Amino acid sequence: MLTEAQQVLKKYFGYDEFRPLQEEIINDILNKNDCLVLMPTGGGKSITFQIPAVLKKGIAIVVSPLISLMKDQVESLRAVGISAAFLNSSLSVDQQVAVENDIIDGKIKLLYVSPEKLVSESFIEFLKKLDISLFAIDEAHCISQWGHDFRPEYTELKILKDTYSEIPIVALTATADKITARDIIKQLNLQNTKQYIASFDRPNLSLNVVPGQNRKKKIIDFIKARPNESGIIYCLSRKSTEEMVKTLKKEGFKADYYHAGLDSKKRSKVQDNFIKDKTPIICATIAFGMGIDKSNVRWVIHYNMPKNIENYYQEIGRGGRDGVKTDTMMFYSLQDVMVYRRFIDEAPNNREVELSKLQRIQEFAEAQTCRRKILLSYFGEHLENDCGNCDVCQNPPQQFDGTIIAQKALSALYRLDQNVGVTMLIDVLRGAGKKEIFDKGYQNIKTFGAGKDISFFDWHQYMLQLLNQGFIEIAYDQNNVVKVTDAGDKILFNGKKVSLVHVHEIKKKNDQKLKDAKPLSKTKMINNELFDRLRELRRIIADSEAVPPYVVFNDATLEAMTSLKPTTHDELGKISGVGEFKNNKYGSNFIGEILKFIREKSDEGSNIKGSTYVITFEMFNDGFSIEEIAKKRSLSEATIFGHLTKYYEEGHDIDVLKLIPEEELKRIKKAIDEVGLENGMKPLFFNMNEEISYGKIRMGITYWQKNIF
Ligand code: ADP
Ligand code: ZN
Repeated sequence: MLTEAQQVLKKYFGYDEFRPLQEEIINDILNKNDCLVLMPTGGGKSITFQIPAVLKKGIAIVVSPLISLMKDQVESLRAVGISAAFLNSSLSVDQQVAVENDIIDGKIKLLYVSPEKLVSESFIEFLKKLDISLFAIDEAHCISQWGHDFRPEYTELKILKDTYSEIPIVALTATADKITARDIIKQLNLQNTKQYIASFDRPNLSLNVVPGQNRKKKIIDFIKARPNESGIIYCLSRKSTEEMVKTLKKEGFKADYYHAGLDSKKRSKVQDNFIKDKTPIICATIAFGMGIDKSNVRWVIHYNMPKNIENYYQEIGRGGRDGVKTDTMMFYSLQDVMVYRRFIDEAPNNREVELSKLQRIQEFAEAQTCRRKILLSYFGEHLENDCGNCDVCQNPPQQFDGTIIAQKALSALYRLDQNVGVTMLIDVLRGAGKKEIFDKGYQNIKTFGAGKDISFFDWHQYMLQLLNQGFIEIAYDQNNVVKVTDAGDKILFNGKKVSLVHVHEIKKKNDQKLKDAKPLSKTKMINNELFDRLRELRRIIADSEAVPPYVVFNDATLEAMTSLKPTTHDELGKISGVGEFKNNKYGSNFIGEILKFIREKSDEGSNIKGSTYVITFEMFNDGFSIEEIAKKRSLSEATIFGHLTKYYEEGHDIDVLKLIPEEELKRIKKAIDEVGLENGMKPLFFNMNEEISYGKIRMGITYWQKNIF
């Protein structure tokens, strides 16, 4: 027996199972308890208050800080057949009144409001007339000064518990450490609150860190391997977002940029085009992303290393909310580190904290062990096994004795008086013929050219490794010149050994990753083609309804349709993400497209699942008789009849009277009435003197079951 909550999950949202914690939270709310929900972005927080809202009588009030988020949630709810509305400053007075009337008439199950609106006097009065089922406070960290996005309006929400002590409040957030979590409970005055903390792991996000050389080319290769997919490229400066777009456009990609220098109209236009899959690629500064619920962001690139792990995780977290495989790629170079060091030195509030955060992300970037483990441990979570979905796991680094390489670099440094930057150091090691070298007379030092056999790129990687192992350091306050540390001295003077990772290993694994060059199997290619067609269909439907495509069906659902190829409403309804409402509304369109596709592929000679039935069915619909179909397809008439029967049983409409004359259908009915169905078809066959074939009997039974029983 399904619980009521499970029924709602299936009926409206089309999902078979709850994710971890969802059901417990729902039950807690149904039992009128307050609770605090900490789940990562994409974890499935919304359902935890939406399902109780559907089940309880009255109206649920949801507080949300951003107009775009409210709109998105309301659209998604309406798309599954749940009545929802929002009240905020984007509505005209007439629209507000219309919504208020709907609320008073009891037509709305969930109402989204901004915090300002909720605590306004007139609205508090209005609320008094309503039967409120629950309050949900989304993005609840906004209430805490300790959170990273404090909003003073949120603190007014204190009054809820005073005014409505009996109504459960659920506070939800994706970003709260322990202090913030405690503060949320205190600020909202929640009672006996249970905290639900889900794992922050997002296993569908692949984690890749790539050396910062040749970024543009690497990005272009990466995007070329992912046609039609949506992605975000985060850049450090406004200018580089614009330059990146120029580069991408030259390559024929559709891309746009987004940063705080654009006016708000332009910003929301860019955002809207992205959400609606009209501009698949956005190059943006960190200003982009808050308030975007787009579930089908398939990749995230960091053109520059983010300044800390929090930012990094939040930004890659904008990818893959639908749970489908999503690739992330972060470029890492010393240059970025130097830029951040300058920022920190120029604005030295909180200097120590910022430096140590920078240090942590550098360690992450340089990791030689599973990156996900490092990431999760930063957030206080322990991952038992290596993840298998990061570049380190997929291509474990090969170490070698790098003592000689290190000695060459360190001894050159001493001879250069520890007074040059990394680039000059490498140039000297490689014996480069640059003017500056000769001006300074560096060509005369003993180690000049001692590292000729190693390329500039490789030297750069080795320097990074030496830096991260603490053998050299960069004097950020002295023009970024390189110094030898005490640990470095031990290599030169005490015979200490150094392990390095082969640079060609790093290169190889990244090249592989980027190109993703495995040839696709035939099935995979056909499936990709179907996926593209379903995605296009989704876009057209979404366009006509002025909603984002992922609101129609998300990528995970389209993928399931692609591999299972449902051709009836029953089959479609079994797919995760297809609830009753969407099945009724969009089912025929998607089934139609799948049928058409199967037919076309079969005509081209590809053998795909279910195609033989589909061809028969389509030919029959095109007016061919059973005899003709049998002949054309070199199959027996009984087989063709069987195909049609199966189709008919699965819920397709077939004109049965074209296959079985009416008086024979009546005979079958009479026989059923006389001998019943309990013992199968045999008694019916003999009851009708063996004059009606088993094929017809089977179809006849279905006919009468559909039409009478
Ligand atoms: P959050 O608000 O935590 O960022 P959402 O509530 O938007 O996450 O959910 C993210 C995605 O996961 C949505 O597409 C949602 O429909 C889907 N989802 C939620 N719960 C389930 C579930 N039990 N099974 C499958 N998908 C789910
Ligand atoms: Zn890993």
